[in-house]
Amino acid sequence: MAARFYEPRVIRIEQVDKPEINKDEILVRNRVALTCGSDLKMYLRGHRLVTPPLVIGHEFAGTIEKIGDDVQGFREGMNVVAANSAPCMSCYYCRIGKPNLCDRLDEVLVGFSFPGAYAEYVRLPARIVRQNVCEIPKGVSFEEAAFLEPLACVIHGGELADVKADDLVLIIGAGPIGLLHMQLAKAHGAKTVVVTDASSERLRRAAGLGADHTVDTKDPVGEIRRLSEKRGADVTIEAVGKPETWELAVQATRKGGTTVLFGGCPAGSTAAIDTGAVHYGELTLKGVFHHTPASVREALRLISTRQVKVAPLITHRMRLSEVEEALRLMQNGVAIKVALTP
Ligand SMILES: [Zn+2]
Ligand SMILES: [Zn+2]
Repeated sequence: MAARFYEPRVIRIEQVDKPEINKDEILVRNRVALTCGSDLKMYLRGHRLVTPPLVIGHEFAGTIEKIGDDVQGFREGMNVVAANSAPCMSCYYCRIGKPNLCDRLDEVLVGFSFPGAYAEYVRLPARIVRQNVCEIPKGVSFEEAAFLEPLACVIHGGELADVKADDLVLIIGAGPIGLLHMQLAKAHGAKTVVVTDASSERLRRAAGLGADHTVDTKDPVGEIRRLSEKRGADVTIEAVGKPETWELAVQATRKGGTTVLFGGCPAGSTAAIDTGAVHYGELTLKGVFHHTPASVREALRLISTRQVKVAPLITHRMRLSEVEEALRLMQNGVAIKVALTP
């Protein structure tokens, strides 16, 4: 059984053939797949890499059903989690140590250019098998392990944010990504982490997971100034993906501070940045994209040690056949993450 995307707002649950694997690939019997904001975006608008019909979904964990003859280090019956991509390690960006910007990332992107995880079985392509498949440690559930990919992206963003002890950090957006950033900033020793969101329910959840302050969206900049002797945040992390929240992120950051623009805005959109604030304020603006093999490994470590608590981000559990309903719950802001079981 697989959930295949046909066109915006059309996903069909279908019987498909069990995937065949090549000698350097792995077949995983999927135990859980998580919904993600990018699956929702694809459901609503389609995606440049997707050629329908395609099984979508890219956050998952399961048990190895079959391994190719040339695969080493894995065995059938092993519980594993995989990232949705892996770098080529030969292009310019891979050679200069920026594998998240790999020119060939799009070639095998599970759930985008390659069949995904909203299915009973997931085929792992060779490049991912070589670099980004991890055995799930004992004591870690499939649901927790499935957070590997989003947390790896957040960890990569956290490296660029470079949060220091005693920092005042503002997180814009209390969705799954914002809540992961919030916990990571605390793990890095941030003194005060403030979360802003339009939804009071999401803010309550952020407070429950360790946010020091939560603010609604009426005047977050005023609130940050009040908390920082009028300076602004040392580090601001935007985790919404709208031009207006990118602008807000710049406004909320103090002179000499760092603004991390994590959320992807609609293609072709632009944001207005106060040139004076950037120039006289020596602001550092950082765009962030995707993950690296190192951030994937670090994600598994933080999940296993529970330094980042991922389980509370799952707000709903549903059957894979209910995937469209699950995506609607995401769209309405009711669900943070839905765990789908085949
Ligand atoms: Zn995702
Ligand atoms: Zn590359």
